[in-house]
Amino acid sequence: MQLKDPSLFKQQCYIDGQWCDAASGQTVAIADPASGEVLGPVPVMGQSETRNATEAARKALGPWRALTAKERAVMLRRWFELINQHSDDLALLMTREQGKPLAEAKGEVGYAASFIEWFAEEAKRVYGETIPGHQGDKRIMVIKQPVGVCAAITPWNFPAAMITRKVGPALAAGCTMVVKPAPQTPFTALALAELADRAGIPPGVLNIVCGDAVAIGNELCANPTVRKLSFTGSTAVGSKLMAQCAPNIKKLSLELGGNAPFIVFRDADLDAAVAGAMISKYRNAGQTCVCANRIYVQDEVYDAFAAKLAKAVAELRVGKGTEPGVTTGPLINAAALTKVQDHLQDALSKGAKLLLGGKSLGGNFMEPAIITEANSSMKLAREETFGPLAPLFRFKEVDEVIAMANDTEFGLAAYFYGRDLSLVWHVAEALEYGMVGVNTGLISTEVAPFGGIKSSGLGREGSRHGIEEYLELKYICLSV
Ligand code: ADP
Repeated sequence: MQLKDPSLFKQQCYIDGQWCDAASGQTVAIADPASGEVLGPVPVMGQSETRNATEAARKALGPWRALTAKERAVMLRRWFELINQHSDDLALLMTREQGKPLAEAKGEVGYAASFIEWFAEEAKRVYGETIPGHQGDKRIMVIKQPVGVCAAITPWNFPAAMITRKVGPALAAGCTMVVKPAPQTPFTALALAELADRAGIPPGVLNIVCGDAVAIGNELCANPTVRKLSFTGSTAVGSKLMAQCAPNIKKLSLELGGNAPFIVFRDADLDAAVAGAMISKYRNAGQTCVCANRIYVQDEVYDAFAAKLAKAVAELRVGKGTEPGVTTGPLINAAALTKVQDHLQDALSKGAKLLLGGKSLGGNFMEPAIITEANSSMKLAREETFGPLAPLFRFKEVDEVIAMANDTEFGLAAYFYGRDLSLVWHVAEALEYGMVGVNTGLISTEVAPFGGIKSSGLGREGSRHGIEEYLELKYICLSV
């Protein structure tokens, strides 16, 4: 790979400040989803290495939490700057292992870095509280302290940002961390660790363990030293990990699946709604947990919206993420492509009409697709499609579409376009979701609390709330 700084292409794990191989010597080859080309090996680690990483994080915890917030912030800030300085290399690594177009990868690197910057700043604002005593001789204080050793398990769709939005607040709060990146995208994670090392973050504060997901996950959940697990991934795995964390009552943050509705009301600015749908639906080839999954369009503007959307989708260019001008990379693997195709065929067999695209293009590539006349009997109404397929549902009344939008076990992101102020407020309040985009298709930012309700998870990441997930309150009652 043609990196400006080839030493960022690490093919070993990072434990206690050392680059290391699996005890067994075993490795696995990581392939480019666009070409199948092998990029390089990474170690296959398991329980014993995870235990070592946890022990390293335990040893590093005391000195790390004893630093002043400003001392930790200075190191995090340096890390932030190094990530930005090396953003071209990080983006290329990401595109090669994940598939997203380079421009999108570059955007993610900036987004990932923003969490480090934000939490470096927030580290200094972990304020406590004083409370008027309940008896004349009592003085009450509330202080906030780091949770301790934390673990993170992250997905492949945002190989950098899903890590920094956990590591940033954890380290800022004074916690140490063991990270298990997704098996598909270890190299971005390892490059981030190399930059953390260069930033002076001490050995053991951040550890990256790649390998057997089940063995690593079992150890992280069962090991009593780990006091918190932060997971981003599927609801099925999140639920399993929650159960595994139950015996020793670990704290949890879970960012799980979504099934985002995207509603276009008749008074919407249709061009803006199309622009929002393009970003929300087709970014990362439709592989984000906040991607619009169901697009509801009011009857009066249904045909006009469909025509405008089809025009915009026809301009997308599918190809390798490293090629200039490509807007839509491959899906992450063959199974992902099979799922999208299954959703498409299921919908067509239940009465949907194909408006555009949908063909498999060889390898993990597919043409971005739109179907019309989708209905709630179709798989894509219930499950996250996670691919470049936009189903358009038709609706007539506001309350009808609110009921349809909420008719899911998920509650991560929702979007709608409309201009009537009372409608906007009514719908924003009625949607049972953790995040609502009104007249926008892009809601992710480090300054706002990201997270879901219902089966979409627990806790929030980003914003001033994000650091609270890594802090415990301690109430001190002083008798004077
Ligand atoms: P996706 O479908 O996006 O890959 P997953 O929930 O399967 O979502 O994966 C998200 C992360 O969870 C990945 O890092 C994966 O390796 C990890 N993972 C999957 N299964 C387990 C498990 N049983 N225990 C621990 N981690 C797991």
